[in-house]
Amino acid sequence: MNKEIVVSGIRPTGNLHLGNYMGAVKNFIKMQHEYNCYFFIADFHSLTTHPNPKDLHQNVKQVLAEYIACGIDPEACTIYIQSDLPEIAELYLLLNMHAYKGELERVTSFKEKAKSHPNNINAGLLTYPVLMAADILIHKALKVPVGKDQEQHLEMARTFGNRFNRIYNNELFPEPQAFNYGNQLVKVPGLQGGGKMSKSDGDNTVINLNDDDATVRKKIMKAVSDVSPTEPNSTPSQAVQNLFDLMTLVSNQEVISYYKTTFADCSIRYGDLKKQLAEDMALFISPIKQKIDEISGNDEMLGKIAKMGAEKARDSASKTIATAREMIGFTKFY
Ligand code: ATP
Ligand code: MG
Repeated sequence: MNKEIVVSGIRPTGNLHLGNYMGAVKNFIKMQHEYNCYFFIADFHSLTTHPNPKDLHQNVKQVLAEYIACGIDPEACTIYIQSDLPEIAELYLLLNMHAYKGELERVTSFKEKAKSHPNNINAGLLTYPVLMAADILIHKALKVPVGKDQEQHLEMARTFGNRFNRIYNNELFPEPQAFNYGNQLVKVPGLQGGGKMSKSDGDNTVINLNDDDATVRKKIMKAVSDVSPTEPNSTPSQAVQNLFDLMTLVSNQEVISYYKTTFADCSIRYGDLKKQLAEDMALFISPIKQKIDEISGNDEMLGKIAKMGAEKARDSASKTIATAREMIGFTKFY
């Protein structure tokens, strides 16, 4: 029986962090054994913020090394670099003809980025969801393991795929769904007291998979908290809730219950909570960091993996683009 197709990618805009791991990579590791998986490094997507070419090149290799260090197996799935597939750029062009300014301007991530970078509202940023739809549709994926921040983009991918099918009267693209094994999509908070953990938000707000123990501890101890509660059973502020959320990801149940109880009876000391969280976080990150150190710099191995992945991924992409070309009338007569 044919396995269901899975696609997901991560932008090479910096080191992978705990949010990328919990929202995406953790699912990849499990899915690779159950589905036909395509995992890529989204270097086209990273161009929206105009990276320096040297940094981009280095980051692509780093993310590849980090994928492997986390346990993504190039034999069990297809790992590739997005820009190795010109078919994606072509499908993006085709889909763009049926993507409208109004609907793109309403996308939350566009509105947020346009607000935070008012001097760089480029067309690539506006059409980001179209490129993401092309990433997914090019392999006709059904499941897309992503964090909560990508939910709206998945909705757009369905819209663009369905629209293309309808206009050209063909069922080329199935409907992709966001996926997480826990059923609910994950949002790992940053350390700045609000918002999700993001590569582009500054190093002190993220726990990188590549951070050493001392760095992890230092970052957690500096995380934004709050004044201690004064009323029993009060609702934690966002910053405190974030610390509890991080604890849920890496600490054991007993520890979590202890701190929830001390919060409820107002005896909590945030310094102690952070110390405990720092230890548990360091224990979680340390084995991954060790593997990253072993693998990054092994350009020969990474190169072989990228080449093998590009060939496998192009095989799948070229079939889809051939059909899409036919559907729109690019049929050869010579
Ligand atoms: P950037 O700031 O460059 O956009 P990012 O940290 O948001 O980087 P992406 O490359 O955009 O990371 O996202 C890669 C994957 O990681 C996506 O599936 C996304 O949903 C997931 N992800 C990113 N941040 C989080 C988070 N804080 N919690 C859960 N999942 C996340
Ligand atoms: Mg992002």
